[in-house]
Amino acid sequence: MNLHELGLEANQYSDVMKRIRRELHKNPEFGLDLPNTLKRVLDAVEGLGEVFLGEGLTAAALLIKGSKPGETVLLRTDMDALAVTEDTGLEYASTNGYMHACGHDLHMAMAIGAAHLIHTHRDELKGDVVIWFQPGEEGLAGADRMLEQKMHMVSGSKPVAAYGVHVFSVYQKGLFGSRPGPLMAAAGGFIATFKGSGGHGSMPWLSKDPIAPMAQAISNLQSAINKRLDVFDDVVVNVGWVRAGDDHTENVIPETARFGATVRTFSQKHSELIREVVADVLDGAAKTYGVEVSIEWLAASRVLENDPVAIDRSRKVIAELFGEDSYWDMPNPIPGGEDFASVLREIPGAFIFLGAAPDGVDPKTAPSNHSNRALFDDDVLPLGAGFLAAMAFDTLNELPA
Ligand SMILES: [Zn+2]
Repeated sequence: MNLHELGLEANQYSDVMKRIRRELHKNPEFGLDLPNTLKRVLDAVEGLGEVFLGEGLTAAALLIKGSKPGETVLLRTDMDALAVTEDTGLEYASTNGYMHACGHDLHMAMAIGAAHLIHTHRDELKGDVVIWFQPGEEGLAGADRMLEQKMHMVSGSKPVAAYGVHVFSVYQKGLFGSRPGPLMAAAGGFIATFKGSGGHGSMPWLSKDPIAPMAQAISNLQSAINKRLDVFDDVVVNVGWVRAGDDHTENVIPETARFGATVRTFSQKHSELIREVVADVLDGAAKTYGVEVSIEWLAASRVLENDPVAIDRSRKVIAELFGEDSYWDMPNPIPGGEDFASVLREIPGAFIFLGAAPDGVDPKTAPSNHSNRALFDDDVLPLGAGFLAAMAFDTLNELPA
C-alpha cells in the first residue's frame, strides 16, 4: 500500500465530504440522542460493512472486514454539537440553537471518507477496521457508554490500536499536531457548600458567617496549589460561580454560601492529590470561622494519554502522506477534556489535532473551538480522511497475520 497515493485518493471524496459536512453543520443535534445525524451518517456508509447500534443512545460501530485475516483497528468520530447559538454568518449556519462549534461535523465527514477509502482497498487490508460514530462527547461520556456496551469488540477481537482526529479552529490549516503521553486534561470540578447560621449583619459574633470562609478558601486555593503540587505537572482550578445571600440584604448573614470550580489535571497522581489539597484548604477555612463545609466532586473525564508507539506511527504516516512539515510535536498538553481518553485507557493509540483555520484568518486571533463564531475550513476533510485510513492500513499490515 502506497500511503502517499492513498492520501491523494482521499481528494476524490472531497466534494462528497464537504456536502455531508455542511448538511450536518446546518442540522446539529445535542447530547446522546442524535437520530437525524446518525441516519445521515449511516446512509453515507451504506454497503461498506456491518453496522452495530448502541442501546439507549444513538451510537454505531461500522465493521469493515479486510480480505485477509488479521487484527482489528478502531477509528473514532464524535457526532454531537454544543448548545451554542451560531453567529458565523455562514450560508450553511445552524438556526436551531445548537452549533457544531467543536468541528464534530468535520470529524463525521472525515470518518465517512475514510470508510470509503478502506472499503475500496479492502483487498489490501490484513484484518478489520471498526469505525465508531459516537454521540455525547461534550460532557456526557458517550465513549464510556460505548465501551460498556462492548462496541469496540464488534469484530470479535479487541482492537490493537485506536485513533482519532480533532480539528482546531486556532491552528494553522492542514497542520497535524500531537505529543506522546498526556495530550489533554482530566476535566472535572466540584461544588463547595459552607454552612453556618444566619443572623443580623450588625452582630456577626452571634451567627456563623459562611461568606468569609468561602472568600478565604477561594483565595487560598491558588497559593496552596502552588505550594503543594509539582509545578511541572500543572493543575488548573478555576472558580466559575459563587452564590450567597440575596440582592439588597447587606445587613443579613445568610446560612449558606456556595461556589463551583472546574479542575484540570494532567496526571493520575495530581487528579488524586488535588482532591486532598482542595479538602484541606476548604476544611481549614471552615474551621477558622467555625462553620461546616461539604464538597461534592463532579464526574471527571480522564487524562488523555497517547501511546508513544502510536505517536511515532502517526508522525511517520503523516510524513508519508503529506510531507515532513505537516506534523508538529506539541510541547505541552492542552487543558481541554475529551472522552476518547477512556478508549485510550483500554486500547493503546493516538489522538491527533488537525489545524483548520480558514484562509485569511489569523489562527492566533481566530475564535476558538466552542465559540459561536468558530470557523473550520473544510478543505482539511481529505487530510483527515486520508490520515485515518492510512493509520488503519499501516498498523494492520505491519502485524503478522
Ligand atoms: Zn470536540
